[in-house]
Amino acid sequence: MNVQYHVIIVGSGIAGLSAAATLAGHGLDILIIDESGHRGGQLLRKTRLKPSCFSKFEPDLMKSKGFDLVWTINKDPDIDWLFNARVLGIFKDRRLLVHIENIKTHGEKASEKIIEVRAENLILATGAREKYLPFKGWTLPGVMSLGAAQILMKSYGVLPAHNTLIAGTSPLMMVLASEILGNKGKVTALVDENSMIKKLTFLPLIKNHWSKLLEGAFYTSRMFLNRVSVFQGYRVIQASGNKGFQSAIMAKTTPRGDVIPGTEVRFFSGALLVGYGFAPNIELPVQAGCKLEYQENKGGWVVKVDETLESSCRSVYAAGEITGIAGAKKSFIQGKLAAMSILKKVGKINARNPKKIFTAEIQRLLFLNHQQTAYSSFLNRLCQAPASAYAAIPDETIICRCEQITMGTIKKNIQQGFDTISSLKKATRCGMGRCQGRICGPVIFDIITALTQKKPEHIGCSLSRAPVKNVNIKAFLNS
Ligand SMILES: Cc1cc2nc3c(=O)[nH]c(=O)nc-3n(C[C@H](O)[C@H](O)[C@H](O)COP(=O)(O)OP(=O)(O)OC[C@H]3O[C@@H](n4cnc5c(N)ncnc54)[C@H](O)[C@@H]3O)c2cc1C
Repeated sequence: MNVQYHVIIVGSGIAGLSAAATLAGHGLDILIIDESGHRGGQLLRKTRLKPSCFSKFEPDLMKSKGFDLVWTINKDPDIDWLFNARVLGIFKDRRLLVHIENIKTHGEKASEKIIEVRAENLILATGAREKYLPFKGWTLPGVMSLGAAQILMKSYGVLPAHNTLIAGTSPLMMVLASEILGNKGKVTALVDENSMIKKLTFLPLIKNHWSKLLEGAFYTSRMFLNRVSVFQGYRVIQASGNKGFQSAIMAKTTPRGDVIPGTEVRFFSGALLVGYGFAPNIELPVQAGCKLEYQENKGGWVVKVDETLESSCRSVYAAGEITGIAGAKKSFIQGKLAAMSILKKVGKINARNPKKIFTAEIQRLLFLNHQQTAYSSFLNRLCQAPASAYAAIPDETIICRCEQITMGTIKKNIQQGFDTISSLKKATRCGMGRCQGRICGPVIFDIITALTQKKPEHIGCSLSRAPVKNVNIKAFLNS
């Protein structure tokens, strides 16, 4: 393995893979780093030995495209991969501090160390994570995020429970319901906070995003055939159980998002999965000093990029969900676009890439990228829980799970003037625990917004410093 690369890509999701496949074959030294042990990020949790015939029938073909990208990249000898490797920090001149774990076949850590690599050009494609709306009992065992349940099923072949209740605002709810049914599990009910009227705002977008409609139709028909009850306009307000989750109370909400008293219904189930959309993983770009911008229609704080996807830091590019939540297709387009911007910059327009064709392709990608904007707005509007829901979280509800900080403490401190993410963190320790605010950060942002109506620029976002992820001191001592 080299220490110096022409291009380093952080993240092997669809954006990272698409960038690597575009850069492949141009004589550039490329390194892909990913903290997980598989290729393909959130979309491809398991790399198949052979692309399945079924994936060819997916409406947007993103999974099969992802598998094809893995094949292309695997064949290129100039591309190095580093898996189970977390980028902990980015320093001057794009020097990256990377924590590498050697994992034994049965999952145990064999050894760990820290290395430094340097990139002439860096593509950050670190994806997104899920967002939450805390409620009483959301920390009980058996209550988990949609993504966690997906990992359980896809990576370990384990169902969350025999009977599973699904709730929230995320389109991932239907994906999960379908995956549970496909794995012979049962879905107690799907409790969707969004009303049909809100979902119908998708209609003007059908022309350019018909594949999403087909995908939705596929999931809906699977739920219909399995007689899954769907409740629209309801929110989970409480989860209860002795040692773990046993039941949840749902209540109907007004179009403004207020709970209507007297409409409560209790569901008994083995597990509760919840999801309120996605937030971009911006710790690394923040630590690197890239400028951010707050865009509600892109999912919150995102990396600010120009048309070439270069950030405010020279030769640091951002692609995929970290420039705005919009799904796999946008990540695929942006990975390619960032790579082509680098190829253009380093003068790789040659006989294989004649300038006219190259420029036309960049124009096409820019157009496709722009087309994703309308879908992004719809998606993020659909997923965002109303401000009133954050303001109404009961005082005893835990918000920061790591430091056990309740809504009551947060509210009291906001009233005392700690109304920015940074000041609230110092005053209460929320966001200082093991997850470093990855779970509670976006929630606290929404709580401050709901309670103070202050502007996003005033509230700010979680600051991150190297190491951006937890690491044993032993790893430094071994290096
Ligand atoms: C939990 C979850 C489940 C999802 N499931 C689906 C689904 O089933 N179907 C669907 O269509 N869409 C799904 N999505 C949406 C999906 O994220 C996008 O559609 C798309 O795949 C995003 O591609 P990406 O390359 O931008 O990011 P991702 O696919 O998220 O890839 C980012 C990669 O960066 C790596 N990474 C992050 N930080 C570091 C670091 N510091 N060091 C090293 N590596 C790092 C991660 O391990 C990850 O592999 C899901 C999203 C989430 C958050």
